[in-house]
Amino acid sequence: MLKITRRTLAGLLLAALAFSASSLSPSESALVSEITENTLKGHVSFLASDALEGRDTPSKGLDVAGEYIAAQFRRFGLQPAGDDGYFQTAPYVLVTQPMETFELTVESGGATYKAPKDRVMVSGSGAVNLSGVPAVKVDLSAEGSGLPSKESVTGKAVILLTGNQRGRAIMQKREALLAMDPAIVVSTGFTFRTRQTLKEAAAGTAKRAPVVTISDQDFSKVAAELADGAKVSASIQAPVEKPVTLRNVIATLPGSDPELKQTYVLLTAHYDHIGVNPSGESDRINNGANDDASGVATVLSLAEAFSKTPHRPKRTLVFMTYFGEEKGLFGSRYYAKHPVFPLVQTVANLNFEHMGRTDDNEGPREGKLTASGFDYTTLGQALTDAGKATGIHAWMDDKNSDAFFARSDNQALADAGVPAITVAVAWIFPDYHRVGDHWEKLNYPNMEKEVRTCAVAVSRVADNPEAPKWNESSPKVASYVKAWQQLHGTH
Ligand SMILES: [Zn+2]
Repeated sequence: MLKITRRTLAGLLLAALAFSASSLSPSESALVSEITENTLKGHVSFLASDALEGRDTPSKGLDVAGEYIAAQFRRFGLQPAGDDGYFQTAPYVLVTQPMETFELTVESGGATYKAPKDRVMVSGSGAVNLSGVPAVKVDLSAEGSGLPSKESVTGKAVILLTGNQRGRAIMQKREALLAMDPAIVVSTGFTFRTRQTLKEAAAGTAKRAPVVTISDQDFSKVAAELADGAKVSASIQAPVEKPVTLRNVIATLPGSDPELKQTYVLLTAHYDHIGVNPSGESDRINNGANDDASGVATVLSLAEAFSKTPHRPKRTLVFMTYFGEEKGLFGSRYYAKHPVFPLVQTVANLNFEHMGRTDDNEGPREGKLTASGFDYTTLGQALTDAGKATGIHAWMDDKNSDAFFARSDNQALADAGVPAITVAVAWIFPDYHRVGDHWEKLNYPNMEKEVRTCAVAVSRVADNPEAPKWNESSPKVASYVKAWQQLHGTH
């Protein structure tokens, strides 16, 4: 009989650790065997079918997709976690901005810039008619830029430079600017193609200045070089409002450990896409197969695998699909504001996007898995370790890791302090946000391996008594660490 000394015990533990890091345990093997390419293909091909018309928020196609997801959760025997079965209902108002008579000009240094209607996004309440309002430049393009004084802004047309700033920090600054009662805010930035925006019904209709975002290099130049005495004129119609009910779809698999089951790992993806193009030749349906039927199929396959295998994770798994990501992270923001499970007990969020295509515009991605904010949390390492056991190379994409952090639903949970990343195989691919994002173009044999890797990572995170953490040594995560500390009352 082997004599167990301290030294041999340490050696055995090390050997066990090395084993678990580089190969699958029997329960992990059983888990991943439940994830198959045909199952993934089945989910993606239905969700991305023409019948669902691109799953716009709101639309009949989106509702059908939601019912499909709920039906799968029902089939797996998962617990409903919404206020209406598997649905978390969210009362919203659909705001449509009429653009027929829209006009906005900036007179600066003897030249007149006219905003092109198709590169403009308007948000705000009420009709606006401004003629020759003095303009003031506010440059928030650098991280940590301060706000101007209220006196310099009130009644003026604010020309706002946002640079690459995204997320909560810039949103908060914009709200603070609006609270200073400018006549209008004309901002550089990213715009959505749609003329419709959503707002939570409970948000009310406080009178505030309109924000006109212009995605146009010419405007960015005018804004950066704004001359003294510049003036803004604008004619904007009042938006039209209609109440709508939107739904996140949520199910849980309760954890097996008496204590850890009170903690939650969120596995998420958005089930909406961008709908049907208003005009164009033949095919006008943006099917959204890779974006993000592939993420939903990942969540569904994880849900199926974890519910079928005998080994039950210690922490509670929450499977959730969101509405409204494409319109601006609405479903995830709604959840973060109205969480079903306390955020302080929510230890991690793995959000899934673009899991099927391997033809990233920047190079082939077969056998590779990445994530936004790869080095922001310990979850990047969890993917790396899982990949070692499944033969997938999890890697940090230096160019896109930071840039894509704010571009999906992980951002909403990160802003609330929860360690949250978006896992993906490809970022931008040839049919991204186009009608050609069809289900046949996904690489399903590769996707099976990728989702299996995610399953292993999730299983280990869910069984590890040590919760995932923000990487506090990175200055890039300072605001999320602060949010985490506020959430946990430790600052
Ligand atoms: Zn997406």
